[in-house]
Amino acid sequence: MSDIQLTIDGKKVTVAKGTTIIEAARKAGIEIPHLCYGGWMIPSGDCRLCVVEVAGSKKLAPSCVYPAANNMVVMTSSERVIKARKMVIELLLSDHPFDCMTCEKSGSCRLEKYAYELGVSTSRFKGEKHNFKIDESNPFFTRDYNKCILCERCVKACSDVQFVNAIDVTYRGFKTKVATPYDRPLQDSPCIFCGQCIAVCPTGALTEKARKGKGREWELKKVETVCPYCGVGCNLQLNVKGNQIVKVTSALDSVVNKGRLCAKGRFGFDFVHSRERLTKPLIRVGEKGEGKFRDASWEEVLDLVANKFNEIKKETGPDSLAFLASAKCTNEENFLMQKLARAAAGTNNIDHCARLCHAPSVVGLAATFGSGAMTNSIHEIRHTDCIFIIGSNTSESHPIIGIEVMEAVRNGKAKLIVADPRKIRMVEFAHLWLRQKPGSDVALVNGLVNIILSEGWQDTAFINARTEGFEAMVEAVKEYTPEVTSKITGVPVADLKEAARLYAKAGNAFILYSMGITQHTTGTENVMALANLVMVTGNIGREGAGMCPLRGQNNVQGSCDMGGLPNVLPGYQAVINSESRKKFEKHWKVTLPDKVGLTMVEMMNAIAERKIRGMYILGEDPVLADPNSNHVIEALKSLDLLVVQDILPSETVKLADVVLPGVSFAEKDGTFTNTERRVQLVRKAIEPPGEARQDWMIISDIATRMGYPMKYASPAHIMEEISLLAGNLFGGVNYERLEGNGLQWPCTSEEHPGTPYLHKDQFTCGLGQFKPVKYKGPYENPDEEYPFVLSTGRMLFHWHGGNMSRHSVGLDKIKPEADVEINPVDAKKMSAGDGDLVEMVSRRGKIVTRVKVTDRSPEGVAFMTFHFKEAPVNRLTLDVVDPLAKIPSLKVCSVRINPVKEKAGGV
Ligand code: SF4
Repeated sequence: MSDIQLTIDGKKVTVAKGTTIIEAARKAGIEIPHLCYGGWMIPSGDCRLCVVEVAGSKKLAPSCVYPAANNMVVMTSSERVIKARKMVIELLLSDHPFDCMTCEKSGSCRLEKYAYELGVSTSRFKGEKHNFKIDESNPFFTRDYNKCILCERCVKACSDVQFVNAIDVTYRGFKTKVATPYDRPLQDSPCIFCGQCIAVCPTGALTEKARKGKGREWELKKVETVCPYCGVGCNLQLNVKGNQIVKVTSALDSVVNKGRLCAKGRFGFDFVHSRERLTKPLIRVGEKGEGKFRDASWEEVLDLVANKFNEIKKETGPDSLAFLASAKCTNEENFLMQKLARAAAGTNNIDHCARLCHAPSVVGLAATFGSGAMTNSIHEIRHTDCIFIIGSNTSESHPIIGIEVMEAVRNGKAKLIVADPRKIRMVEFAHLWLRQKPGSDVALVNGLVNIILSEGWQDTAFINARTEGFEAMVEAVKEYTPEVTSKITGVPVADLKEAARLYAKAGNAFILYSMGITQHTTGTENVMALANLVMVTGNIGREGAGMCPLRGQNNVQGSCDMGGLPNVLPGYQAVINSESRKKFEKHWKVTLPDKVGLTMVEMMNAIAERKIRGMYILGEDPVLADPNSNHVIEALKSLDLLVVQDILPSETVKLADVVLPGVSFAEKDGTFTNTERRVQLVRKAIEPPGEARQDWMIISDIATRMGYPMKYASPAHIMEEISLLAGNLFGGVNYERLEGNGLQWPCTSEEHPGTPYLHKDQFTCGLGQFKPVKYKGPYENPDEEYPFVLSTGRMLFHWHGGNMSRHSVGLDKIKPEADVEINPVDAKKMSAGDGDLVEMVSRRGKIVTRVKVTDRSPEGVAFMTFHFKEAPVNRLTLDVVDPLAKIPSLKVCSVRINPVKEKAGGV
């Protein structure tokens, strides 16, 4: 596009043709007042505050929609302009409440700002005042439409930024207001409580409920940090007054999420201030599981833990100890946790919850590509041509990535294929929905590869130049003809062919997947099948083409990178490789164990067999998160010493012998690594409560008392060691360089800019490895006694074991109770309606919960989340594991469901 030159307030400015006057003025450093305009939306020119005078034009021009022209001369604050703006403000004030002294928005209200700047303190127009009822009915925000100026920014944020369409302008004339369909409360509308409307509201019409009376805008300090919930790693600003977080915002230019947040990120921070926070070290006094403790001093608990661990180690060897690192904790804390296990205790028995989500990605992608991480960056999603989502409830589990996908589809460029047994929200945006039977993913993906090969749509040049093992893979997919695949998966042949065509013929294609792919006894094979699909079409190694495991928790990527796994040291350096060990041994001055340690599920079995006697759990809740939780509870109760370090009481804390109070994300410095491998700074915003202590200090103290001194000055100091020992990924990472947008690993030297996408000219392992895989089907199938398939997963308003989200008042209010989704046909058969109680029974346990009747679940399939301790669904799930990645089959097990009349809660 050619450039034009114009003059604004005497300043010459050159801009691209098509630029509006308001944008051109911005370029010249001149801010034109505006209310309805926002750089993120299509401008409407409604509010008329941004008018300017254009030489030669009789009328004033709304600068947000008026295109700049060559040689144009613009005056942004001439007498005419100021007069017009004053009039606009006066008109707006004519029906606006004058309660700025108590309005939460005072200090950041744009109406107040412009009235002040223009010297408008009253209005000549004495109009009628609105008397809209202030809506406080939802737990997150206050809606006071008496202060609404009808700029429609909230409506556009809802429809164009978050793709929700929960609100619009309704009624006519003076009664005009923004409302949901039929003017119902937000909670009865499609609203997802992302709070984007609050973020863009220029006045006090929409404000956060939780902030009321806690601080004026100018009193708030904004601390940049990273969301503690999901692996998207959205950039947050904690708005702090004194030692309290008042609200959460996000900068429009934030690198990961561009100012967008979901309900958890924006409103789910008050767990930090929960009265239930663990604030003192505790020692058990009652029976195990009773949750009765006495207060103790740090000296006492640290000595107790170190002495008992040493005693166990001496009596039955280092492998009688086990450690769980934490995907909620920082890289630095995880690094120290595995160092404690390996260097101080002498065991590789260290694992964490990645075992329950993406262990098959780590194993399957390492075997095929050489690296188990997301290959590309989040922002590339909007530049791709085809997106294939399989086994990912993206809009609920990774909401901001869900929005990226919606944006890509809305731009009209990308085709979207969704493969999921449930009718998830992403289906609404899909060009094609493949509703495969649960557990039939290998057959589905092999079937797509079969069609691609039969049609000759493969990328032969890529296959020849970049891969090996193609022939064996071709042989393996031969039997998955469209007809055979359709029979196994339940997906019509025509849809299979269309999906194969859309994916293979796209210029660039992305695969997004998550736990619907990995949480199976064939999880690794599912991942390998997808890797075959990627390589056969050459959809990797460039911007906009790749395969993206969407990592679950905020720092599950980092916990893996830091070696919180039983087979690898930091930087995925194998424990069985003597060269790798030597490097660490030299630096750590200790001999390291050379045998691969136990995984989470194996640890529980080893505890039951008394092979493990002492365990240290950092910020995890295996009682709720692990499969077959009755078995987990029994195992943990039988330990000689269970140490749990956490910020809030959990089901696992109840079983502990010693409880160590750690600190929340808002109370610590460190780094998290998000799903796109971006290492980002986490910054301390407030002081921790009571005697809660920095987690890295607690771990260091225990190691030191065990006889292995660990001395660090700060998390930045720990990062120096990570950078040195895991130089293959972190060689160029340091806190100074992380300021701003962070760095995407691999970042191997101070000069390395980081890596937005992997496998550019060659795979991390050299040639990509095709892996022939065959469909095996689920381990447990429905039968007469247990006729339902039970699938488990996450939902938008809660997270993992609910330890943070259920201690967040708003999130818990909006979704206080568990329910099991069943199809209307199944509900009718068992005469159960919405809200009725049912008992769910598997071969491993039973629970009671409420029914939600919905066609989201297909007939014969029940779906339930694992966030609720009152209805702990993992009592039912199967602890049979994938033989390669050792992930349990959390997505498929068999249950029966019977209506009951008892009270809700575990049985
Ligand atoms: Fe936090 Fe994930 Fe929501 Fe972003 S999408 S605000 S990281 S929970």
